[in-house]
Amino acid sequence: MNPAQPERAAAANPRLSSKAERFTESVIREMTRLALQYGAVNLSQGFPDFPAPAEIKRAAQDAISADINQYAITWGAKKFRDAIAGNFERTQGVAVDPEREITVCCGSTEAMISTMMAIINPGDEVVVFEPFYENYGPDAILSGATPRFVKLRPPDWTFDPDELAAAFGPKTKAIILNTPNNPTGKVFERAEFERIRDLCLKWNAFAITDEIYEHMLYDGAKHISLAAIDGMRDRTITINALSKTYSVTGWRVGWAIAAPEVTAAIRKVHDFLTVGAAAPLQEAGALAMQSPASYYESLAREYLVRRDRLLGILTDAGFRCFKPRGAYYIMTDISAFGFSDDVTFAKYLVTDIGVAAVPGSSFYHDPADGRNHLRFTFCKKESTFQAAAERLAKLRAK
Ligand code: GLN
Repeated sequence: MNPAQPERAAAANPRLSSKAERFTESVIREMTRLALQYGAVNLSQGFPDFPAPAEIKRAAQDAISADINQYAITWGAKKFRDAIAGNFERTQGVAVDPEREITVCCGSTEAMISTMMAIINPGDEVVVFEPFYENYGPDAILSGATPRFVKLRPPDWTFDPDELAAAFGPKTKAIILNTPNNPTGKVFERAEFERIRDLCLKWNAFAITDEIYEHMLYDGAKHISLAAIDGMRDRTITINALSKTYSVTGWRVGWAIAAPEVTAAIRKVHDFLTVGAAAPLQEAGALAMQSPASYYESLAREYLVRRDRLLGILTDAGFRCFKPRGAYYIMTDISAFGFSDDVTFAKYLVTDIGVAAVPGSSFYHDPADGRNHLRFTFCKKESTFQAAAERLAKLRAK
């Protein structure tokens, strides 16, 4: 370095990664920190505040006692992969080979970034529906993909087929979608999947589907896996996790299901990123994934009650709500409150009202598009709703 020109030398050889400088801390996780700091009721980050099922917790405790405490096979304990395959076949009718088509990861978050790093080359584009779960932005930067955004428009969060077609091209490597959707609650339908399928075939693209909310469905909505659509089995990378279905978001156990050649690449990336997901928790996962149909039915029923509870609270407080058909979030319109933007309003809610929510802008690449939105989660127990209702009543009074 020339000591006379330190600035120029620093510009030519920055000390920190230019990739890391292109994104910020997660706003969702920041809101949880602020909620703790201000003692606010936390309706921001999507994690349950009620207990996980007792049998699943016991299975994890038993596995630790039985000394399943060393590395599992890097791509997942056989017992767990077998259970994942059995579950996917039962629920979606798609048979997959647990030996060659499943990679167990540290949560769906790692499954997504490992998948992207396994398929993306410089210059590749990925089509992303917007609003999107905020991780997909940094995932694109870290893997080197250029995102092409396609809008889901309220109130039904449908997309314009021409806009979707225009986002695909010779550089498209994949489309990323999340169904049931965070943050909108949209559940993609067969006809939409068929359009997506046609474009994937036309442009030889993959589809990466994040299906982590598959069992949270309301008002007759049905979850369809894109892998179950004709022609998509070997083009789809299906991502899922134990986190939401079994209320164990802190366990960090997820997986990616993909054709053997793709799985081989995902497994290599995963191995060198993390070696493997927690071994005893995979044992418990094997049990969880064999739960009877009644488990998933009561899960959906309980979430329906929570959805309607939060819809009532937010509507009473003056929010315009977009009623979700799936997942566990409510996207709202905050225009009526007259704040300059979503971030200002979210900060005011945490500090002055005592309720934390996620600013809409964190789900859009252009913050202006999310300026009138705030996302609330309803994976919470009744006493949390009660406290939120009391605090939000103050908002109305003002
Ligand atoms: N998916 C959850 C949300 O959107 C939280 C995910 C996370 O923070 N890892 O709030």
